[in-house]
Amino acid sequence: MTKFGNPTIAWEPKFELSQRGNLVVTIGEWRFNKHACWGSKVRWTCIKKKSGCTAAITTIDNVIVKILGSHNH
Ligand SMILES: [Zn+2]
Repeated sequence: MTKFGNPTIAWEPKFELSQRGNLVVTIGEWRFNKHACWGSKVRWTCIKKKSGCTAAITTIDNVIVKILGSHNH
């Protein structure tokens, strides 16, 4: 997971709406689109997923609980 940058400064997720009105989360220099949710548990996939990026995260109550895959960009 080297491509997530320095964890001491980059781990605070920022939740915001994209220009199209979709919820996105920014962590460091990466952005994730909301992919699925189960109650307060949310799966987010990298906005570059269509370009083959496999990175994804899971949050519960807006706290990162799991990181999956890695960025290819
Ligand atoms: Zn990515």
